[in-house]
Amino acid sequence: MSFLARRVAAGSSRAVLNSSKASLANATRSFASAAEHNGVSFGLNEDQEAYRDLARKFAREEIIPVAKHYDQTMEYPVPVLKKGWELGLMNTHIPEEYGGPGLGLVECALISEELAYGCSGIQTAMEANGLAEAPLIVAASHETKQKYLGRMTEEPLMAAYCVTEPGAGSDVAGIATKAEKQGDKWVINGTKMWITNGGKANWYFVLAKTDPNAKAAKSMTGFVVDADTPGIHIGKKEINMGQRCSDTRQITFENVVVPEENVLGKPGDGFKTAMGAFDITRPLVAAGAVGLAQRALYEAATYAQERKTMGKPIIEHQAISFLLAEMQMAVEASRNMVWKSCWAKDQGQRNSFWASMAKCMASQAATANANGAVQVYGGMGFNTESPVEKLLRDSRIFEIYEGTTQIQKLIIGRHIQELYKV
Ligand SMILES: Cc1cc2nc3c(=O)[nH]c(=O)nc-3n(C[C@H](O)[C@H](O)[C@H](O)COP(=O)(O)OP(=O)(O)OC[C@H]3O[C@@H](n4cnc5c(N)ncnc54)[C@H](O)[C@@H]3O)c2cc1C
Repeated sequence: MSFLARRVAAGSSRAVLNSSKASLANATRSFASAAEHNGVSFGLNEDQEAYRDLARKFAREEIIPVAKHYDQTMEYPVPVLKKGWELGLMNTHIPEEYGGPGLGLVECALISEELAYGCSGIQTAMEANGLAEAPLIVAASHETKQKYLGRMTEEPLMAAYCVTEPGAGSDVAGIATKAEKQGDKWVINGTKMWITNGGKANWYFVLAKTDPNAKAAKSMTGFVVDADTPGIHIGKKEINMGQRCSDTRQITFENVVVPEENVLGKPGDGFKTAMGAFDITRPLVAAGAVGLAQRALYEAATYAQERKTMGKPIIEHQAISFLLAEMQMAVEASRNMVWKSCWAKDQGQRNSFWASMAKCMASQAATANANGAVQVYGGMGFNTESPVEKLLRDSRIFEIYEGTTQIQKLIIGRHIQELYKV
């Protein structure tokens, strides 16, 4: 049996624990994370455990067995996405009013971590829906929410968030895509880059410049655009280092006509909307990074007990056990930070500061743990037969998308100036 097969078998048996209660149908919503406030608690309530266990079971049984196939073929994992959608593991923060489960961020994070433990490429495809939906949750009218969020709950559709451009990623204010008002319509022209689900989306959230003379924060507007609108050109699937089954594309908008009602919020509010969405999505990207970091730790810790050198399992060499200790601490610290950032949002607090810390810490934990796992595996870790080389490739994107590590530190740094005013 290969290393991967043995790990999968071990993971599956652990996953079936508690699986009898792991059904969304049984999981009555209580929003305990938001509504009950009995002081500090690191425990999960019954519903939260049920969501986590459902996602864990799905990851062990439906994702892990096919993750290598989708990594090697780079195929978009349609059957997995459909099954995940049927179980209610996608679009989890769409409010009940629009047909979604309306979960709190803590519950969403529990799900994201488990999915990414299975394969962060598949989790990214699932999570990108949430990224596209977040600006609508933040700023869309009731009718727009009903139309675009509603349809995501009626059939397994995908959506995409189009902000980055070939010339502007971290520098969102530098985007060149523009939208001009012509009569009662808007006309969008420009090119977006690195768009997850770009070739699979039913609709796009698009950020465009609408008033180039205004201050950066007031110069942009957010739109929701149907993917079958004439003038949308979808580029080739990008061949990325990791998360290779996720669909990343360039999208060009050429005289794309959008009705007035597809403006999210007011013209000029787009930057605020796009950034506000990150308060919802960064904690969940961070949760995905924790899932990958946890998987790397599991693979490394189990291998280190089986592999022997100099007459003993390598875990008994202090150098290896110290490395594993660092990996364990990174997982625990990042998970706690993710929960804190989610909890703050569920409490109705502004959580940008916590979301940036969670994203920064967890993505660094993912890359460090994946790197550590390769080291623990030695030569085998460099080989595609081991489970850890994929983890290393997949981990790298967490420090880049949804704001790089450097951008998170810029945000944290700005808050520090406010926190410790002189
Ligand atoms: C696989 C993948 C999926 C993605 N999915 C999406 C998506 O769905 N939607 C979307 O809109 N975008 C998406 N992106 C884009 C992603 O968010 C950007 O790549 C990211 O924000 C960085 O932008 P950039 O690539 O232009 O790098 P740049 O902004 O050019 O940055 C280059 C380097 O400079 C650093 N840097 C930049 N500015 C500063 C500064 N002021 N101070 C210190 N350091 C700085 C950065 O941290 C980075 O290390 C995706 C990217 C990838 C690779």
